[in-house]
Amino acid sequence: DSDRDLLLSRIRDVPDWPEPGVVFKDITPLLRDPAAFDTLVELLSGVGGDGVDVVVGIEARGFILGAPVAHRLGAGFVPVRKQGKLPWTTTAASYALEYGEATIEVHTDAFKPGERVLVVDDVLATGGTVRATVDLVRGAGADVVGVGILMELGFLNGRDKLADVNVRSLLVI
Ligand code: 5GP
Repeated sequence: DSDRDLLLSRIRDVPDWPEPGVVFKDITPLLRDPAAFDTLVELLSGVGGDGVDVVVGIEARGFILGAPVAHRLGAGFVPVRKQGKLPWTTTAASYALEYGEATIEVHTDAFKPGERVLVVDDVLATGGTVRATVDLVRGAGADVVGVGILMELGFLNGRDKLADVNVRSLLVI
């Protein structure tokens, strides 16, 4: 539909970045366009249904999208960050990359048991980042009511890791 056409038209393909063979989806033109940014925030805000308590944004572009979604929903915002960035006591989750491993963290007091959590990020690629984030939220006893993604790279089959999660992607390529 026209909302999705607008969003798609504002995502720039950058070949061979950050390394040869990768086509990076650059969302900065979308963020720069007020109408597209507003449409994106509105659509992501609908993913978790009613009664979202907390929006989680995944570093770094998930912060840019998650914070306005949280504000719009009257929810709180929680950052999930790369290892070593959060100042207080954290819980960590690690996941496999093509070469090596990545670790993300969240503060141990970020969620209360039973809270309804919406996770937001820009791109779903292999799914490792969202998988680890969902595990952190559930590990704290909170409920993941949805994962809102701007663009899913379907050919990487990230969804296979997320069969037990309500993932909604606005665009799938
Ligand atoms: P995954 O763990 O699903 O393989 O990777 C997803 C994470 O990497 C997300 O946090 C996302 O921001 C980032 N990412 C991977 N590929 C791209 C891309 O092409 N464009 C953007 N904007 N982010 C990407």
